[in-house]
Amino acid sequence: MIVILQPEITRDSAEFRGIMAYLEKLPNIQIRIHEELGSQQVLTELYLIGKTQQVDAADVATLPGVERVVRISAEYRILGRHKDEQRSTSFEYNGVHFGQDSLNVFAGLCAVDTPEHVEQMMQALQAHGQVCTRMGAYKPRTNPYAFQGHGKNCLPYVFELAGKYGIQVIAMEVTHESHIEEIQQALHATGHPTGVMLQIGTRNTQNFELLKQAGRQREFPVLLKRGFGITLEESLNAAEYLASEGNHKVVFGLRGMKTNMGDPHRNFVDFSHVPVVKRLTRMPVCIDPSHSVGVRTYAPDGLQDIFHVTAQGVIAGANMILVDFHPDPPTALVDGPQALLLSELPHFLEDVAIARDAYLKRVAAAQRCASRD
Ligand code: PEP
Ligand code: MN
Repeated sequence: MIVILQPEITRDSAEFRGIMAYLEKLPNIQIRIHEELGSQQVLTELYLIGKTQQVDAADVATLPGVERVVRISAEYRILGRHKDEQRSTSFEYNGVHFGQDSLNVFAGLCAVDTPEHVEQMMQALQAHGQVCTRMGAYKPRTNPYAFQGHGKNCLPYVFELAGKYGIQVIAMEVTHESHIEEIQQALHATGHPTGVMLQIGTRNTQNFELLKQAGRQREFPVLLKRGFGITLEESLNAAEYLASEGNHKVVFGLRGMKTNMGDPHRNFVDFSHVPVVKRLTRMPVCIDPSHSVGVRTYAPDGLQDIFHVTAQGVIAGANMILVDFHPDPPTALVDGPQALLLSELPHFLEDVAIARDAYLKRVAAAQRCASRD
């Protein structure tokens, strides 16, 4: 059960003390306080955990200072969609809106290699009106002898170049909690020229200690990728770990499933789950066509498979696209074979816009038809 307080009710108010006094008397109930700092006000939510079936929601709703009470099912308590609730399906970060209603493209380098390539990438993004990118500094690799990423050494120039080219959010994978601190320190040292969305990759979807650390900090939003060999339910529960520790700014990423049923693609594309995740949870949904498809193959119609699956995800309502580009794929240190060329960026963005427009028309048609019933 979630008790949502009126916006002006803070911890030091008489109403707050009164509500807590009432709730603390309830048997077998634990209370977790969550405060969301908005631009104007602090929104306080109280999560009641335990035997909430015995709690009279109508009684709690009449306490002074309570805005409303939401009874939730056991699944995805915080990030889930529950009956009769109007909690938000979006958040803002560093001037960028992330929601189930919007679409952001994060085109960029799978792995940072040289400052020149970072600069060429960001220059191209700015030239095409983009304010987000992906930049891998910490790479989880299958082979221990493969390039592991430049780590914290590349952060200063990546952040400074992002500031120079107006990049507001960089998706950056972390594989250990110390990486979060290194990112914080580098952002501080460079004067916060940009923002970072922490990415937790498919190999770490159920790294619960990493999830807890990423959930305990509130500075950065988190993109959690679906585990490539576990159920959707297990991955959504992993996302809930982030929220249960306090960070509600979570985007859920689909990146394909590991099975040879997807051959000849690198993974089996799972973008039909875009509407499913949006129905079950309030998270914006990201698609990663690069790691799903993994190759630069063309269909007879002249479109690459990567373009096709991107369009399939977008036409189904995806809210974020994480896609690999590289100025010179043959020299890329990670995932060169799936990287798109900078010269392909305008076509890619145009194709995304066509699919997004089609999605919005589909939604409008659904609403028109529903209102006729
Ligand atoms: C990545 O996005 O660079 C990556 C490693 O993705 P995934 O965790 O989906 O394999
Ligand atoms: Mn990769």
